[in-house]
Amino acid sequence: MPRKYFFILSAILTLTSAGCATVGRKTLAPPAISPAQGVYHIVTPGQTLWRIAHTYNIDVNELMRLNGITDPSQLIVGQRLLIRRAACPLPMGPVSPVITSEVEAIVGPKHYSSHWRTITLHHSGTIEGNAGAFDRNHRKRGMGGLFYHFVIGNGAGSGDGQIEVGWRWRKQANANRPKDIQICLVGDFNRQRLSESQFESLIKLITVLRRQYNIPVSNIRKHKSIRGKHTACPGSSFPFGRIILQLRQIKA
Ligand SMILES: [Zn+2]
Repeated sequence: MPRKYFFILSAILTLTSAGCATVGRKTLAPPAISPAQGVYHIVTPGQTLWRIAHTYNIDVNELMRLNGITDPSQLIVGQRLLIRRAACPLPMGPVSPVITSEVEAIVGPKHYSSHWRTITLHHSGTIEGNAGAFDRNHRKRGMGGLFYHFVIGNGAGSGDGQIEVGWRWRKQANANRPKDIQICLVGDFNRQRLSESQFESLIKLITVLRRQYNIPVSNIRKHKSIRGKHTACPGSSFPFGRIILQLRQIKA
């Protein structure tokens, strides 16, 4: 191509892509699609479907459906995701460090005589509640009081994302399984969703506990995943996969 035409073509290309900042390396440049269709976002290290959906202000389920994704943990670096109604691929900053100092104060110092090995996640199965209410209920049921070590509120009965410490944690007492920390999230996650504040508090709480007791991510489980347990706890919409993905990105 004569040099003159090359410059003209370059100018046209520059004009047509005006308004979109360059994102990522040139080798990952997405194929051109019409603005009506949306844009392609290229997955880079550390990104999750939830962060991407949040960045573009779209629903994560819609993003998954549009891109034929059934397992969000299978997202791979370099993967192209079609984003509808977006004018440009948006840059995403590095994952912000998780600040856990407030939660460390709630959990208290490490108990060197304790050997917590696993963390089990529950929902309360109620739309509201708090540690005091569950304690009374569990006493009535002959369970000796609150059967959880921690309760994370949803804004109905206690603060949204508020972490309450149960007496079993203060006494470093087991619930029904030895060395197993019980965390209850207020809500019925067969009918409602975990709030973002609950999610953030849970990530911080687990991170603090993992650091203190050297608990691997693989030792975090849903109540229903325990062999022999016939329960739906913590509910069908509980975002376990998202929690595990997030925890894997945090240095414990
Ligand atoms: Zn449970």
